[in-house]
Amino acid sequence: MSAESYDIVIVGGGTGGAFAAATAAQAGLATVILERKPPEAAGHIACGDAIKGTATFPDVMDLEYLKDESFTNQSITRALFENPSSNDDIEIEFRGPGAVLDRKRYGEIILEEAERLGAAIHYNTVVQDVLQTADGTVTGVTGKRNGSTVTYEAELVVDAAGALSLLQDKADFSGTFFDTNVRYSQFCSAYREVIEVDEPVEWHDAIVFKPTEELGYLWYFPRTPTRINVGVGFQMDQPEMQMISTIEADIEARDDLVNPTVIDKLGAAVPTRRPYDSAVAPGYMAVGDAAGHVNPTTGGGIPGAAKSAVWAMRRAIDALDAGDVSESALWAYNRDVMTDFGKHFAAIDCYNIWGTAHEVEELTEIVSAVPGQHLADAMSGADGKAMPLSLKLRTIKDTYGHWDQLIQLANVRTKAHELAAHYERYPATPGGFPAWQSVRDSILDEVYEISGADPKY
Ligand SMILES: Cc1cc2nc3c(=O)[nH]c(=O)nc-3n(C[C@H](O)[C@H](O)[C@H](O)COP(=O)(O)OP(=O)(O)OC[C@H]3O[C@@H](n4cnc5c(N)ncnc54)[C@H](O)[C@@H]3O)c2cc1C
Repeated sequence: MSAESYDIVIVGGGTGGAFAAATAAQAGLATVILERKPPEAAGHIACGDAIKGTATFPDVMDLEYLKDESFTNQSITRALFENPSSNDDIEIEFRGPGAVLDRKRYGEIILEEAERLGAAIHYNTVVQDVLQTADGTVTGVTGKRNGSTVTYEAELVVDAAGALSLLQDKADFSGTFFDTNVRYSQFCSAYREVIEVDEPVEWHDAIVFKPTEELGYLWYFPRTPTRINVGVGFQMDQPEMQMISTIEADIEARDDLVNPTVIDKLGAAVPTRRPYDSAVAPGYMAVGDAAGHVNPTTGGGIPGAAKSAVWAMRRAIDALDAGDVSESALWAYNRDVMTDFGKHFAAIDCYNIWGTAHEVEELTEIVSAVPGQHLADAMSGADGKAMPLSLKLRTIKDTYGHWDQLIQLANVRTKAHELAAHYERYPATPGGFPAWQSVRDSILDEVYEISGADPKY
């Protein structure tokens, strides 16, 4: 058995792990990424690969190089929502162009950049357990590297091991506020294929969505006009969905996908929930999927993983400088997350909760009847743009029969705004957390009451 010692040990070489390592190594900390996969498979991660562009990423590595090497489609300007029960597609224009990546190449570049900036990467290293002192402080991890048992001691362990991280099963978080209220039902099971087609698709400037029967959605994200990522997901509190056959049937039914050939396939779980209430414990920080940093309506988690990893490491650098890795010393990271994307994700999770209390046909009819941009604004919380009277009248006519649900939706929206404002008041120290959490839970109780949904947390 071998033992090694670092300032920072990062478990997982995905987006969170690579951005954390780049930040810590640049600050001169002895940093290692432990990745269970071999080097040739690192970066091969289940993903739809759609992002907003380089603005998605904190500027801690060479983003121009990343873009040149891995952004295969930089001309995504709109989202298309296909309505399976009518031909009335909803189109939403983006404010700025988005991109679709080659996820494998992207994964290789971010690891190459982390290494260039000074981090070590140990591939073929499967972390199996967490080391803790008697008072609960995390002091390292153990695992198998190329089959041999290894111990890594660290001032701080970063959990970047993705959704349903094994580290959180192993660590004892009692006596801390680390969020352990995490259940399978708060996750989405997702699967994607990459297909090649003979003829370019017309919608190569769009990401395309379509609802499925199981309260999930199917999507097409074009990497190029002839290479398309197609995927599907369903919330794990719903009956199991046959994801491969659902994709096959949809591809088969489309006449704009000519002679499709599958060139890659992969699946994984995605946390479609609010961010963890706290993602820190003594000597331990969780980032990315391991802390629920995913947009709970779209499943987009690359930006949350990259940003949270950098914010965590900036707080960790200060904590290590002060020689204090207690929960209090790391706590400011929670506030960084909650007052930024955390408040938005917690707010839009209210719509997911509302959705679980309705049938998919009902939701499709409502969604189809409300003009696209207004629906997007309602869900993103954007204010200010009133719906023109003519549209209002058309909406009233088209939504006839669903007014109760629309009133519910409006009430949920009010609560979502209240929730986001409450996340702005996330406490600066652990001492204020129980009171903050209690108010947050009472807002959510009202969301359950309005929507008739079963409690999610
Ligand atoms: C089908 C699908 C489609 C998606 N589409 C999009 C999209 O279009 N846009 C978007 O922004 N997001 C999308 N996401 C979400 C996005 O992929 C994740 O949010 C993002 O990858 C999270 O990054 P991460 O670094 O936290 O975790 P991951 O990328 O999952 O990385 C975790 C790493 O940890 C390693 N690891 C795990 N356990 C151990 C262990 N015990 N020891 C050592 N190593 C370990 C894994 O091998 C992996 O390399 C999608 C997800 C899925 C499943």
